[in-house]
Amino acid sequence: MDIEVESFQLDHTKVEAPYVRKAGRIETPKGDIIQKYDLRLRQPNEDAISTAPMHTLEHLLAGYMREKIDNIVDISPMGCRTGFYLIVVGEPTVEKVENTLTDSLTQILETEEVPATTAKECGNYRDHSLFGAKEYASDVLKKFK
Ligand SMILES: [Zn+2]
Repeated sequence: MDIEVESFQLDHTKVEAPYVRKAGRIETPKGDIIQKYDLRLRQPNEDAISTAPMHTLEHLLAGYMREKIDNIVDISPMGCRTGFYLIVVGEPTVEKVENTLTDSLTQILETEEVPATTAKECGNYRDHSLFGAKEYASDVLKKFK
């Protein structure tokens, strides 16, 4: 593969989760800025989020993060299940993204219902765990400095 993938260059043995990191910046031909951030919740190669809580975190972060940051294109799970990618039009600071993430995780602790969990709205609606999502949210919040 000749294309350089930024996240493949990151030394995953050197990072210390949880953290937020700016992982990419593109300026479109018309001058818009699109940025990508890693929202790393678990320590790579030591831990990973189980699929049901991961899926529930995805559904909840999709709403809670968008309430606080404008022009979010996507928040999607990392395939390694140690965190999420955030893609946004604009240039929110890492601090702003981190505060938004911790505020959203705090909201998850109080959440009583997962949005969009019907067969019509979701591609695997049976695979959710709000209990598990809260367990991870609580643990990540304790570890964020
Ligand atoms: Zn879903």
